[in-house]
Amino acid sequence: MSHSLRIKNAVKAPLHFLADQLGPHRYSTRKNQLWVLMYHRILPVHDPRYRTEEPGMIVTPESFRQQLRIIKQLFAVMPLSEWTQRRASNQPLPARACAITFDDGWRDNFEFALPALQAEQLPATVFAVSDMIGTKQQFWPNRLSRLLALADIDRQALRSFDWLQAFTTYQTSGVHSREAIAALINECKRLSDPQLRTNLDAMEADTGLASLPEPSLMNWSEVRQMQATGLVEIGSHTCHHTRLVKGLPEKTLHAEIVDSRSKLEAQLEKPVTLFCYPNGDFSAAAAKLVSENYAAAVTTQSGINALPASTHQLHRIGIHEDVSNTPTRFRARLSGWI
Ligand SMILES: [Zn+2]
Repeated sequence: MSHSLRIKNAVKAPLHFLADQLGPHRYSTRKNQLWVLMYHRILPVHDPRYRTEEPGMIVTPESFRQQLRIIKQLFAVMPLSEWTQRRASNQPLPARACAITFDDGWRDNFEFALPALQAEQLPATVFAVSDMIGTKQQFWPNRLSRLLALADIDRQALRSFDWLQAFTTYQTSGVHSREAIAALINECKRLSDPQLRTNLDAMEADTGLASLPEPSLMNWSEVRQMQATGLVEIGSHTCHHTRLVKGLPEKTLHAEIVDSRSKLEAQLEKPVTLFCYPNGDFSAAAAKLVSENYAAAVTTQSGINALPASTHQLHRIGIHEDVSNTPTRFRARLSGWI
């Protein structure tokens, strides 16, 4: 931990303590609240994959296990589909329900999250990207951070890096730390998904880093094994992780939302009723199509859901290591205040 981070944490400690002690995860007058926790990757600090990932994406297996034990004490933990079904059929709902979700279908979910879920016998939903399962494809933020962090190259000599000059972080920081890379990724979201793909294709071709040693996402067998435990349900996170922003052609919307569902169902032989918006983005047309095709959908909007919340735009609490590596900090996060 850096010196400045240690100071920041010391200043925040009383706030964390208060949020932990007084938050709605402990006391609440509202009924039928639903916490949906949003996880991405579970990776040990010494894992090589940890180094090239954004800090906001990771929780360590140790912290994750501790967190499972905490939520078991505080909430009625249930699959998101169960909460949705109960709500739709007017069955009683717990005062404080909690659903665990994982975005993207990372292979480390199979390696590190599943054993922890099994040990605590807790259910979770994994939102998988149908056309990326079992492939070596990478999400564009990972492709970019991999190129920046691992490529031992002379950036100035490569014309394929030129497009990054438009971003402040790239110009000012030189982009070495994981934090700077995360800031650059955030700036890059101004570009469309196809533009980003084209730029990264060129960079990878120039640097000769197109192929990867091993896939970072689960394959179908691993997804099926997750499902076969009876603890994990699979939801759709589109076919290609396309951000469902305004202006997408009707055909693309239909493919990403409706076809992703039928592809998952065909492979998994189970109904898929839950959807997760990539990057939390959705146009009105996307929201309409999702509500017609799924029982519920989650966003990246931060917050706790209180009835009558829209089940097609559920808020979540994002969990990553920096905000959750002690029990107090984790419970403060669950308050929804921090
Ligand atoms: Zn995602």
